[in-house]
Amino acid sequence: MSENIEKVKCLIIGSGPAGYTAALYAARAELYPVVYQGMQPGGQLTITTEVENFPGYPDGTQGTAMMEDMKKQVERFGTDIRWGEIVDLDVSERPFKAKTDEGKIILAETVIISTGASAKWLGMPSEQEYNGYGVSACATCDGYFYKGKVVAVVGGGDTAAEEATYLAKLVKKVYLIHRRDELRASKAMQKRVFKTENIEMVWDSAPKEIIGKKEGFSKAVTGVIVENLKTGEERTIDIDGFFVAIGHKPNSDMFKGKLDMDETGYLITRPDSTATNVPGIFAAGDIQDKTFRQAVTAAGTGCMAALEAERFLADQDD
Ligand code: NDP
Repeated sequence: MSENIEKVKCLIIGSGPAGYTAALYAARAELYPVVYQGMQPGGQLTITTEVENFPGYPDGTQGTAMMEDMKKQVERFGTDIRWGEIVDLDVSERPFKAKTDEGKIILAETVIISTGASAKWLGMPSEQEYNGYGVSACATCDGYFYKGKVVAVVGGGDTAAEEATYLAKLVKKVYLIHRRDELRASKAMQKRVFKTENIEMVWDSAPKEIIGKKEGFSKAVTGVIVENLKTGEERTIDIDGFFVAIGHKPNSDMFKGKLDMDETGYLITRPDSTATNVPGIFAAGDIQDKTFRQAVTAAGTGCMAALEAERFLADQDD
């Protein structure tokens, strides 16, 4: 076989909690998995700061440290973890043909897709500057750090409504900033938002700039300048945390027209399974989960994907 073509039993695309957990189980089942880490090695957890809700870390840990730990754990069982990306996947026949960004061809008997999703951001430079220092796209991950404080949530869909009501239980006050005068969220979620006393709606408005303070290496958000889109009026709201909840984008562009996905691009898996519509291709983590999106649920589906890949190969052998 040419140097540029390699045959593997199990190819894992993506290196977040789903990909690494799949690798851990696949390696221990002697599937000799090969993991392509993708554009953001370690996934979304590498852009959060502290993680306190992953079981097994009584004192919490840093997102980057946790992903390093997962990587070390899978390396211990001989997983081949590689830099680089898979840029194309031919699913029309087995073995599936994957192409790397360096032009290498991987012929894979099974594929586990764990390419995750990316939070959508507003695009303000200050949003990037304070990311991880008061700016977050995940209330369940970071909300606890704002206990008793004041935060703003941006967005008007179910995610924003859910994040706002979740945060309202922890913080003193939530400003829910939305660009229109009605929410897109389901009626049930809207009802929950409107009856929560410490949520104040900021209608018809868009954040213009996040304000913060810097001292040495530390940074913290102190406020947000908001523009009323109907009147053009600007005001500053004092806040300690700024949560962006304007949706997520699953990283599934490469699979369009090849694997079944819903209208928003999430891969569709069979109920109680990680199997996609193509036998031998499995999907785990945020690429197929728009509801829970937690590290621990991603890890759980990663485990399922590896077990299903193992069973699939055993069935083929039979
Ligand atoms: P949505 O696309 O439904 O909503 C995004 C919201 O963000 C909209 O209100 C939109 O405003 C606003 N928005 C988008 N871009 C910008 C921008 N640049 N500036 C300001 N505001 C912006 O995304 P969600 O993540 O809320 O939901 C995605 C899917 O997941 C939905 O189908 C939802 O029902 C589902 N979901 C279900 C949950 C549940 O059932 N528990 C929980 C979370 C999500 P506008 O309304 O003006 O377009």
